[in-house]
Amino acid sequence: DRVEFVSFFDHVIDRFEMNKNEKVEFVRNLSNKNMYVWMDKDKITQVLDNIISNAIKYSPEGGSIRFSAHSTKKQLRVSITDEGIGMPPDTVDKIFDRFYRVDKSRAREMGGTGLGLAIAREMIEAHHGKIWAESREGKGTTVHFTLPLMSQKRRGQS
Ligand code: ATP
Ligand code: MG
Repeated sequence: DRVEFVSFFDHVIDRFEMNKNEKVEFVRNLSNKNMYVWMDKDKITQVLDNIISNAIKYSPEGGSIRFSAHSTKKQLRVSITDEGIGMPPDTVDKIFDRFYRVDKSRAREMGGTGLGLAIAREMIEAHHGKIWAESREGKGTTVHFTLPLMSQKRRGQS
């Protein structure tokens, strides 16, 4: 479906903000322009749910989570940044592999299967986008993804 991404994203963040504890702060930096994306809402909701729950799961007390959505040429770019434990540089690409967890002992106490980001990558690639992460151990992690924007034509034009 054709979805206005900024308000969709805002609502997803609202849902997490209602349920989160007071120990993490949410900061939104969202485009004030409308951005239209052709997407499966349920699938992109699943992608965002996993990225945001990871950000919360690995955040320290008092940490901030930053949400950004902007357009770059013909792409929408979404970034979700936490101030959590981060991960070593050589693992930052592996977190998108099935069942990969950075630290087995840490992962065990955190729960989960290690599938969330592998599914997210499949969904984003099925939408012709890209997903990747940047991280610094002890500093935090940013997960970015892009999705193609629909051209800003009026209805009736082709
Ligand atoms: P699931 O999502 O299936 O419940 P999971 O969260 O462990 O399990 P993924 O979401 O695929 O699995 O993440 C894979 C691994 O990447 C995690 O186990 C964790 O080690 C690491 N990781 C993901 N996001 C972050 C983050 N924001 N900060 C630090 N480590 C992260
Ligand atoms: Mg996860």
